[in-house]
Amino acid sequence: MRILGIETTCDETAAAVVGVGFDGKGEILSSEVLSQIAEHAAYGGVVPEIAARAHVEVLDRLIARALKNAHCTVKDIDGIAVAAGPGLIGGVLVGLTTAKAIALVTRKPLMAVNHLEAHALTARLTDGIGFPYLLLLASGGHTQLVAVKGVGDYMRIGTTIDDAIGEAFDKVAKMLGLPYPGGPHVEREAAKGNPERFALPRPMQGRAEPNFSLSGLKTAVRIEAEKIAPLTQTDIADLCASFQAAIVDVVVDRTRVGLRRFREIADAPKALVVAGGVAANQTMRQALQRLAVETGLKLVAPPLDLCGDNAAMIAWAGLERLRLGMVDDINAPARARWPLDTSGQAVGVKA
Ligand code: ATP
Ligand code: MG
Ligand code: FE
Repeated sequence: MRILGIETTCDETAAAVVGVGFDGKGEILSSEVLSQIAEHAAYGGVVPEIAARAHVEVLDRLIARALKNAHCTVKDIDGIAVAAGPGLIGGVLVGLTTAKAIALVTRKPLMAVNHLEAHALTARLTDGIGFPYLLLLASGGHTQLVAVKGVGDYMRIGTTIDDAIGEAFDKVAKMLGLPYPGGPHVEREAAKGNPERFALPRPMQGRAEPNFSLSGLKTAVRIEAEKIAPLTQTDIADLCASFQAAIVDVVVDRTRVGLRRFREIADAPKALVVAGGVAANQTMRQALQRLAVETGLKLVAPPLDLCGDNAAMIAWAGLERLRLGMVDDINAPARARWPLDTSGQAVGVKA
């Protein structure tokens, strides 16, 4: 089985072909990602109209390249998977309309995938883990703890009440004059800095509900930075290190509580999984690895190129859905908002 995947929900245009062997294991046959970072950098964030236009310009070429690199044509594909949301609606429409056109012309099944579901299922593509597992989704737009019980069966057990983790990294980077997107730059600076120089808060730490709140932490960084302005290179590195240490402490504490909650509502988790762009952060991965050992679980963290947005994860989620007969019809809507909890009931219909 081979699935073509398409991703256009934010500022990466991506196309990929993912297959599955007789053993049921996933295989990435090609994965093309074109980042628009350069187009948005001057604005310090993603500009929706620029993103949509950029997707239009490159998507056809990217799909052709993904097929070519997978040594197949559209005839060899068993289905088309596309991220139908959540995301910037102009971009989503570009990918969804293209996928629908291909599905109509080739008469192949269409899978309108939730982008968050694709992040959530990536661990099954890379490591073949079984259900259920606890997912920490840490990305640019989301920070959630999710009990992943099956394809289309997700229970959110914790979320942020304000900023997402990636957003917090990006905002701190911006206030310190680091380029967009800030996460990797904050991590690089943090590696040179002293994580104990600034006493930053650990919001929500110790609370019984596994939720997050990160906007106060960002404000605390701003206050410390203003106290010592103008900032030297050392100040910037120390602020980044202190911020990263605080956020990692919070993530570990919240995930520990999430694991406890998970065991109350479902069978023992088979793994602790981290996904989303922030999962690329090495300090975070190491801390989660320690938590996994402490709780007797295996940590599954995707390779770096599968942490950020890509189409291999979309193709894989589509493949998982097609195997279960969960296909969508040509009227599948584009969704700016699409909570993960409902992705089973929302559009996936049993064929
Ligand atoms: P969502 O998946 O919620 O719709 P998104 O697709 O924009 O949002 P991703 O592409 O999964 O998010 O992740 C991008 C985010 O990851 C950005 O905020 C970026 O700063 C952050 N990020 C990337 N690398 C790192 C890193 N090494 N450390 C911390 N944050 C990082
Ligand atoms: Mg992105
Ligand atoms: Fe994403």
